[in-house]
Amino acid sequence: MPHVITQSCCSDGSCVYACPVNCIHPSPDEPGFATAEMLYIDPVACVDCGACVSACPVGAIAPDSKLTDKQLPFIELNAGFYPERPAGVKLPPTSKLAPVLPAPQVRRGEAELTVAVVGSGPAGMYAADELLTQKGVRVNVFDKLPTPFGLVRAGVAPDHQHTKGVTKLFDRISKQPRFTFYLNVEVGQHISHDELLKHHHAVLYTVGAPNDRRLDIGGMELPGTATATETVAWINGHPDFAGLDVDLRHERVVVVGNGNVALDVARILTANPDDLARTDISDTALAVLRGSAVREVVIAARRGPVDSAFTLPELIGLTSTAEVVLDAGDHDLVEQDLATATDTLAKAKLEILAKLPVAAELTGRPRIRLAYRLTPHRVLGTDRVSGVEFLRTGTDETVRIEAGLLLTSIGYRGAPIADLPFDEADAVVPNRDGRVIDPATGAAVTGAYVAGWIKRGPTGFIGTNKSCSMQTVSNLVDDFNAGLLADPSARPALLDNLIRSRQPEVVDARGWRAIDAAETARGEEQGRVRVKFTDVADMVAAAAAPAAPLAKRLLAGLLR
Ligand code: NAP
Repeated sequence: MPHVITQSCCSDGSCVYACPVNCIHPSPDEPGFATAEMLYIDPVACVDCGACVSACPVGAIAPDSKLTDKQLPFIELNAGFYPERPAGVKLPPTSKLAPVLPAPQVRRGEAELTVAVVGSGPAGMYAADELLTQKGVRVNVFDKLPTPFGLVRAGVAPDHQHTKGVTKLFDRISKQPRFTFYLNVEVGQHISHDELLKHHHAVLYTVGAPNDRRLDIGGMELPGTATATETVAWINGHPDFAGLDVDLRHERVVVVGNGNVALDVARILTANPDDLARTDISDTALAVLRGSAVREVVIAARRGPVDSAFTLPELIGLTSTAEVVLDAGDHDLVEQDLATATDTLAKAKLEILAKLPVAAELTGRPRIRLAYRLTPHRVLGTDRVSGVEFLRTGTDETVRIEAGLLLTSIGYRGAPIADLPFDEADAVVPNRDGRVIDPATGAAVTGAYVAGWIKRGPTGFIGTNKSCSMQTVSNLVDDFNAGLLADPSARPALLDNLIRSRQPEVVDARGWRAIDAAETARGEEQGRVRVKFTDVADMVAAAAAPAAPLAKRLLAGLLR
């Protein structure tokens, strides 16, 4: 009964360290650690102890006997990572346990290392966790929203509740005694970089990539165009996107780009609203989806099937939950790619695509059509979008697809941070392994660090940020130990006073827990995971509400 890693794997490697027989790979000493699409358990070596199940922050691991039908393909996917061999023949162990990366050691006598982390998404929370493994470290985490956890709350699709389960880990991190939340505080508006540096040894920015890459073709200004990422934010009830006008009164939506975000948005737009109603989807989005006339979402990629940007676990998840089809011409492209593909993962994706039904007339439930070799050329329509004209990639042949909504899903883009250098070409803060670098001199900008998407660009999975943040924290601690970071000139209590004077509605950890409790209580009333507040004023009001009596809170905690 070996254990199996399934779709929601976040690749943060917690299971790798927990495994007593080193049977989960890639491990930290192997290529692909933290960047592979997922981790894999060797079914021959697994001793079925379940240590990985407890360690996994996203509930992605189960014994093979307890998988749902939809998860069964992951048995083969895990086993396929390892070389074929006769039953019972174990691989020679590389080492008994996976090598643990050494935690940074703070060594500066009595001085307490104080770090401001700006952004409370995965990179920020993993960085705080890594810093707090050391005694004598204090971490203040800032976020401009009253609610923490960045893209886990506002970017992970609501039907992926397992993935959102990583917030339990983040909640545990935030409960450590030397961790302080300053939520609803915007760095750059309420407090500047220099002011933060006066109160901390270092400022570590983990602000992600808040913008979208824009598609530069004619007609993008027409009503009926939007980006997939803002649509996902609207679906998730992000207050900045709560009022987005998502018009689903048409039969077809075209999504340009075929990464995992495109799959997320297509899946939600074609899902049964009754299924979504159990999740934490925004009430507004749910109401619009209930009235949707959409019958088909076309995901248009400019390259061929072998270059599909979505990952294999997400394709397996998509095809097991949604109706996914391909045109006959695209099936031919799949067959051609299959004949030449050498990469194992690419081949596995192609084999799934090859088994998809050929797109016939639109009947039955809403469906997703994957389409290939379509380069977007212009948006059609006069008053609003009526379709998209593509060029068959590499040719002059035009292909028109009628649609009432065009969503571009061509990647996120980082935004400049006040008082720090910015690399416009890559849309990241220039850095050397997390130390911010002045591009004019090549010298490190004292006290400034980055981790996550603003450091390395918008790629990877939630857990990728763990090793990314560990690298930055390790360099930050080295700089502190070497005496390169100036001691804060102001006493810690003064930071609190300064922030409250600039932003009286600052939300602390208690305030966040009050918002969390109010949202889950609203959810319980409706048989839902939670009903989110989508307005900042409502969040702030919930944060200020008096805490429920202890007994009630204990009971709510037990019931969760
Ligand atoms: P992505 O994976 O980088 O995909 C971008 C897509 O846009 C690609 O298909 C790309 O095509 C296409 N594209 C780029 N420029 C284009 C242009 N000018 N015209 C037409 N197409 C263009 O980006 P993403 O989907 O936003 O995802 C961002 C990251 O988050 C990824 O690492 C993703 O895996 C991760 N993510 C993971 C999950 C999950 O694990 N469940 C969910 C969501 C996001 P080319 O390949 O031809 O450039």
